[in-house]
Amino acid sequence: MIEPLDESQYLAHRAGTVPQPVALRSWVRAVGVPFRRGIPHSFAYLLRDEESGVHVVDPGQDTAENRAYLSAVVAESGTDPRGIRSITLTHFHRDHSGLAAWLARESGCPVRLHSAEIAELRAESRGSRYTDGLDARMRRWGMPISRASLIEITGETPPALTVPDELEPVADGELLPIPGRRVRVRHTPGHSPGHVVLVLEDEGLVLTGDTLLPHINPPIGRSHGGEGNAVGRFLESLELLAAYDADDVGPGHGYCFRPLGERRRDVEAHVRARLAEVRTALASGRGTDAWTVAPQLTWGPGWANLSGRNLQSALDQTALYVELARSAPA
Ligand SMILES: [Zn+2]
Repeated sequence: MIEPLDESQYLAHRAGTVPQPVALRSWVRAVGVPFRRGIPHSFAYLLRDEESGVHVVDPGQDTAENRAYLSAVVAESGTDPRGIRSITLTHFHRDHSGLAAWLARESGCPVRLHSAEIAELRAESRGSRYTDGLDARMRRWGMPISRASLIEITGETPPALTVPDELEPVADGELLPIPGRRVRVRHTPGHSPGHVVLVLEDEGLVLTGDTLLPHINPPIGRSHGGEGNAVGRFLESLELLAAYDADDVGPGHGYCFRPLGERRRDVEAHVRARLAEVRTALASGRGTDAWTVAPQLTWGPGWANLSGRNLQSALDQTALYVELARSAPA
């Protein structure tokens, strides 16, 4: 069993509300930044360096309210957005990256993220993963074009994502420029191709973004491209994280918890069970592609209840599992 690091965060999570900022360490604060119904918040992390400079990880979704909120929380650290010393993103998704362009403008700091994620951020700003290139994706899934209405996106489309003016690539193994603190970048592709986690080496604390969450299995392959098979790469990333099994976790959503290894093994077991399920479906001869295999798998809400974005995501993930099962037979 994992245990929450902070009771107030955990209670907020249970209640479906946004938690108050919490000090995880003397120089590390976890700040719940509101997102949307169903996913109440993403976590921004404020790191204070030895010279009292403030560094931001994953500032959160861009709204006027969130700009004001983050400014207020930063003010408690004795500065304002103009005084921020660095901005780093675990990955390009807008619930983590949205405010980065604004913060970068205010502070004059570049935004640091993995080079593979820079490509994703640019692609995302030019269009939506859920509306562009759907015909090609349906062909990849083996989904009949006549069923296209099932994956149509209804409701509000989010505003275009603004790309920060200056992006600076970070690479696996490097230390972030945070005076007096050892914050190491580790590349953990899977959820997205350039996803990184940040290891606070002297604190036994890992900021995992969406690579490891306390309450849900991270969706895999939420991207425009990326090298290799995202499920295979995600399994490699989980292996890499084994080095930090005893550590505490500051995730991208939910609540902060410990120990990392407990959750890491659960998530890996889930991925491997899924892969086995897909292999069984392929071996039965009743499925050959994502469209025919997916209905044979177990889905939280039930296969028949998936539509729109959720159905797209289900088919994307099934296609990745089918591809991996084919390339690496059990
Ligand atoms: Zn994400």
